[in-house]
Amino acid sequence: MNAQATIGVLALQGAFDAHVQHLNALDVDVRLIKTEADLEEIDGLVIPGGESTTMSNLLVASGLGKTLTQKIDNGFPVFGTCAGMIMMANSIVDGRPDQIVLNAMDIQVRRNGYGRQNDSFEQDIDIASFDVPFHALFIRAPIIEKLANDVEVLSTVNGHPVLVRQGSALASSFHPELVADFRVHEIFVSVVKSS
Ligand code: GLN
Repeated sequence: MNAQATIGVLALQGAFDAHVQHLNALDVDVRLIKTEADLEEIDGLVIPGGESTTMSNLLVASGLGKTLTQKIDNGFPVFGTCAGMIMMANSIVDGRPDQIVLNAMDIQVRRNGYGRQNDSFEQDIDIASFDVPFHALFIRAPIIEKLANDVEVLSTVNGHPVLVRQGSALASSFHPELVADFRVHEIFVSVVKSS
């Protein structure tokens, strides 16, 4: 791998700082993204966890949502975790009616899909190509209810996909930035470097 990739972390709301730290540990240049102009400087974007309805409001108010959607349509690499995965979907169940989607992946997600009883949990999960399981934290996580045939499922929990990839879009319903394990971020770095 070469060391040229510059990766942005959407910093409007939510758990962006932990993503910055993970990316800093890998061989990339990291930028915080708050404006449309910031998008011009990066080769790929991480969309963090947080609250997707609030993130939607801020994406609309900042103008970032529209520009980002156009870039994504042209193959710009994005990696969404939890609320970020919700933003990347093409359809949301139990969203707020005016909540926008970025249409980065052909998945339908249900917000807070694990319900109240099990709305936060942690579990060691097997991920395609990893020799050792990954300790995954799920925090009011979405469930992928539908996905197109060309969405690659890299991991499942109880039959539900939890890490998926379609072209240069990667999404996890868990929070890989909250454990001291960089392997999921490494997948995205290699997607960015090869696109
Ligand atoms: N439930 C949140 C939402 O709907 C996502 C939670 C998270 O990102 N940890 O946006």
